[in-house]
Amino acid sequence: MLVHDERHAEGAASPPIYQTSNFTFQSYQSMVERFRGDSTQPVYSRVDNPTVSVLLDKISRLEGGEGAAAFASGMAAISNAVLSHVASGDRIVCVRHVYPDTYRLLKGLCARFDIATDFVDGTDFAAIEAALPGAKLLYLESPCSWVMEEQDIASIARRAHAHGVTTLVDNSWASPIFQKPLESGVDLVVHSASKYISGHSDVVAGLVVGRRSAIDRMNREVTPYLGAKLSAQEAALLLRGLRTLPLRMQQHQASALTIAGRLAQHEMVKQVHHPGLSRKEFSLLQGYGGLFSFELDERLDIPAFCDALSIFRLAVSWGGHESLVMPAEVSINQAGEHNAAVDFGVSPRLIRLFVGLENPEDLWFDLSQALACA
Ligand SMILES: *Cc1c(COP(=O)(O)O)cnc(C)c1O
Repeated sequence: MLVHDERHAEGAASPPIYQTSNFTFQSYQSMVERFRGDSTQPVYSRVDNPTVSVLLDKISRLEGGEGAAAFASGMAAISNAVLSHVASGDRIVCVRHVYPDTYRLLKGLCARFDIATDFVDGTDFAAIEAALPGAKLLYLESPCSWVMEEQDIASIARRAHAHGVTTLVDNSWASPIFQKPLESGVDLVVHSASKYISGHSDVVAGLVVGRRSAIDRMNREVTPYLGAKLSAQEAALLLRGLRTLPLRMQQHQASALTIAGRLAQHEMVKQVHHPGLSRKEFSLLQGYGGLFSFELDERLDIPAFCDALSIFRLAVSWGGHESLVMPAEVSINQAGEHNAAVDFGVSPRLIRLFVGLENPEDLWFDLSQALACA
C-alpha cells in the first residue's frame, strides 16, 4: 500500500528535492494555458511544489483520502482546516482533552473572530450529541495525547453527519498505520507530522487529509493566504520517514506494550493510561503507538524520578527514535494567563512516557532503577 509505482526524473530512487520558489514557462502560450487552468504545471512553491506533491499523493493513499495539504507545522494544518470550515457567528464542538495549543486556538484566537467553541467530554456520547445541532465543525482527537482517551469515532461521525456537521480527527497518536478515521465517515484528518511521520525529531510539519471537496475548499479559500506552506526539503524528510513508518510503529507498539504492562504491575505505579490495556469495543485502532502515561505513587518524588532517568530524556513532543519523559505538573504549572484555563484532564501525578526505538530491556532497566531510587 505504501509502495506503489514511483517514477521520478532521471530514474532517481528518492524523490528529487525541487529547491525552487517559482517555475518558468516555455512560452507565452504555455503560461496563458496554465493560468486559464488548462495545464497543471507548478507556478509558485507557496501553492504547489513537485516534492510536496509526491508527499500529498502518498499520505492521501495511506489515509484513504481523496486529497491532502501540507503545512509548516501541525498547528498550521489544524488552524487551516478549522478556519476553512467556520465563519464569524459559527460554533465548533470540541473534545475537552484536546492538544493544549488546539484548545488555545479555539478558546482564544477563534473566539476573537466570534467563532464559539463548546468543549465536551469526549467519552460522553450523549453530551456530544446534544451539542451537535446547529454546530459547523466537530473536532475530535482520539486517542488524545495526555490520558490517551478514545472517542467512539464511527458513531459520533454518523451523528455529526445527520446534523450536517463536518467531523475532523487529530490522528497524530495512532498515525495512519494504526487508525484510518476517513474510512469511518470522518471528513478530515489532521496530523502533526513532526511526530511519527517525520520519525526522527528533525522536522516540524503538519498534514491534512480528507474528501476532495474539503481539501479544495481549503486550497481555494484559506491556505494560500495564511501561507504556512511546507518546504520541499522538509517534504523530502517526511517522504523518507514514511518509508519506515510501518516498521517503526510495530517496534513502538511492541516496546510500549511491554513497558506499560510491567508498569501496571509495579507497586510505585497507580494507574497506567494505555489504550491497549483496556481495549474499548468501539476502538478503530489496529495497533498502538509508543506514547502513554501513568500516575506515580505519592511516595515518589516526581522531580527525583525524572532526574534519575538516563535513557528517557525530559522533553515535549514525541515520535522520534529517542525515548522521552514529560511530567504533567510542568505543563499544568506553565506560566501565562492564556494557560490558566487549559484543562489537560490529568492529575499532576501523571507522567507521560514516549517509548522510542532503543532496546526495550534497556528502557525497562532505566525505568525500574528510577522507580527504586526516587
Ligand atoms: C504535537 C501535536 C500537535 C501540534 O503539532 P506541531 O507539529 O507541534 O505544530 C497537534 N496535535 C497533537 C496530538 C500533537 O501531539
